[in-house]
Amino acid sequence: ELPVVAIVGRPNVGKSTLVNRILRRREAVVEDVPGVTRDRVAYEGEWSGRRFTMIDTGGWEATATGIHLKVAEQAEVAIDMADVVLFVVDATVGATDDDEAVVRLLRRAGKPVVLVANKVDDMRMEGEAAALWNLGLGQPWPVSALHGRGSGDALDAVLEVL
Ligand code: GDP
Ligand code: MG
Repeated sequence: ELPVVAIVGRPNVGKSTLVNRILRRREAVVEDVPGVTRDRVAYEGEWSGRRFTMIDTGGWEATATGIHLKVAEQAEVAIDMADVVLFVVDATVGATDDDEAVVRLLRRAGKPVVLVANKVDDMRMEGEAAALWNLGLGQPWPVSALHGRGSGDALDAVLEVL
């Protein structure tokens, strides 16, 4: 049984892009528009010689129940399965109410969390990433899943708690 790394976060923050970055393949479906339904999908990943199962919590459907509830539901199931949670926040947007809802779930679950401040494509965004210290989840790792910037450091942090 491989350890499970769950990738959790709001739609469109770049979870699937990050999964593809880690896999070095374009397997996870990247959506420019949030809302295309794709449930939890498992991939086998590897970093520094360690293998693990990655759960990409896929798109969410913005239904009548609201996208808010869907995020929490999906996150909850993925967190349950996880040995470590890679919580992805869009640093260009900052922490939203949905992000805060996931933080509460993470606190309750008590699982180790690595906080990824994604879309930090260049130095100028580093300050936005640092603002995510406010979430109280420890160090935000500035990452550009799109360009690969910082993803190795975030993965090293994952391995440290795995
Ligand atoms: P998911 O819904 O969280 O899985 O997000 P996706 O991986 O589908 O990405 C949503 C959008 O954000 C896509 O248009 C991606 O190209 C874009 N994106 C993902 N990561 C980055 C990043 O590091 N920088 C920038 N600028 N865009 C990104
Ligand atoms: Mg996705």
